[in-house]
Amino acid sequence: MKKSKHIVILGAGFGGYEAYKALPQWIHKEHTVTVIDKKNHFLFTPLLPEVAGSSLDQHSIVAPLRDILHKDTRFINKKVVKVNTDTQIVSLEGEDIEYDYLISALGAETFFYGTPGAEEHCLVLKHLEDAVAIRNICIDVFEQASQIESKEERAQLLSFMVVGAGPTGAELAGEMGELLFNTLLKQHPRITRDEVSLHIVNGGPRILQMFDESLSAYAQKSLEQNHIRISNNVRINEVQEGKAITAEGEALTAYTIIWTAGVSAIDLTCECGSFEKERGRIFTKRTLQAKNNDNVFVVGDMALFPTEDGRGLPMTAQVAHQQGECAGNNLVALMRGKELKEFTYKEKGLLASLGSFDAIGQVNGFKVKGVFAWLVWRSVYWILFGFWRKRIAILGEWIRNLFVPRDTSRL
Ligand SMILES: Cc1cc2nc3c(=O)[nH]c(=O)nc-3n(C[C@H](O)[C@H](O)[C@H](O)COP(=O)(O)OP(=O)(O)OC[C@H]3O[C@@H](n4cnc5c(N)ncnc54)[C@H](O)[C@@H]3O)c2cc1C
Repeated sequence: MKKSKHIVILGAGFGGYEAYKALPQWIHKEHTVTVIDKKNHFLFTPLLPEVAGSSLDQHSIVAPLRDILHKDTRFINKKVVKVNTDTQIVSLEGEDIEYDYLISALGAETFFYGTPGAEEHCLVLKHLEDAVAIRNICIDVFEQASQIESKEERAQLLSFMVVGAGPTGAELAGEMGELLFNTLLKQHPRITRDEVSLHIVNGGPRILQMFDESLSAYAQKSLEQNHIRISNNVRINEVQEGKAITAEGEALTAYTIIWTAGVSAIDLTCECGSFEKERGRIFTKRTLQAKNNDNVFVVGDMALFPTEDGRGLPMTAQVAHQQGECAGNNLVALMRGKELKEFTYKEKGLLASLGSFDAIGQVNGFKVKGVFAWLVWRSVYWILFGFWRKRIAILGEWIRNLFVPRDTSRL
């Protein structure tokens, strides 16, 4: 018997997976649900810096989609190329899929603001393989440096720069600091502390600007105490091999440069051009339906939700998660001919880890920092990653890290 409607979900990240979970059982029984993602796993991005810093194993922060999707769901592990909203067709690599209802949640990619050389010469931290690449290069350059006689050459090889000091940049630097200064340095007796450098270059006046000023100041001091150099109000205009050129023309050298300074939405090509977009983000109504396309919902980093300043909501997992749930419920309401709910974002707080035993947070108006904030950070993210198999693995690894050094086998 042919099922009546085809619901297609693009992207199984925070927004897409939450929208999927909001679909009730009867939808799966009476209609066809298809999930499309170029990856075959759900990635818990908040823990990516911990993989880069070798605190967690790469497998611990992903959940296989085949394990977590309903048995009646069709999963297609392919890249979405474009959408035609007139014919209601999603084009994948080598396949076209028709839809009746669409939920688009393809997320974002690293944005380089057109900075010459940045994409070519910088590593990024967006996908699992990026975290593994950063971890590997940290381990690799220590191995190489151990074989070099010249102190200057060793220092050149062991210089790292993180461009951007939002949560991704600051958390990554905190984790890298632990790996470089507290693990690798101890394993390589030939290398001395002054030969290893980690520099955060931040275009804004202070790091972690979304936090209260006192917490930003605390975070800066804490990272600096862990041997991380921080330069605020420094904009990078160009990146060349081994150096970043500032707006003032100064060349800041670093063998490894990691760009965390921005993200922009996946710019979904729309053949008929009927999505209204700004910098790739699709304008939505308050119900999360795409403007001019009532049977298309857009959530997460891709969605430009109407806000007073016109800039949309922050591109965070919290927003994507809440929007996903709302879009799933609204899709069901639309199919039943019921009234759709307007989305309201409830910020539950901000947390950022600064390496082992240290973090900052603003939760329900309270400011927290230090070991307590770190425990809150770990507990919150442990609970939020809702897959028991992975939670057990993560807990085991966190306990292990209290007693033994981080694993520095190059993968
Ligand atoms: C290192 C890092 C740390 C972060 N930490 C936090 C944090 O602590 N707290 C927080 O709130 N937010 C955090 N974020 C931001 C958060 O990850 C995003 O805002 C959130 O993932 C957005 O959800 P989404 O559903 O829009 O996109 P995603 O979760 O990115 O999901 C998009 C999905 O679409 C798939 N996809 C993309 N393009 C295609 C295509 N063309 N074809 C098929 N599939 C495709 C991807 O594989 C992915 O599965 C962090 C991000 C990073 C990179």
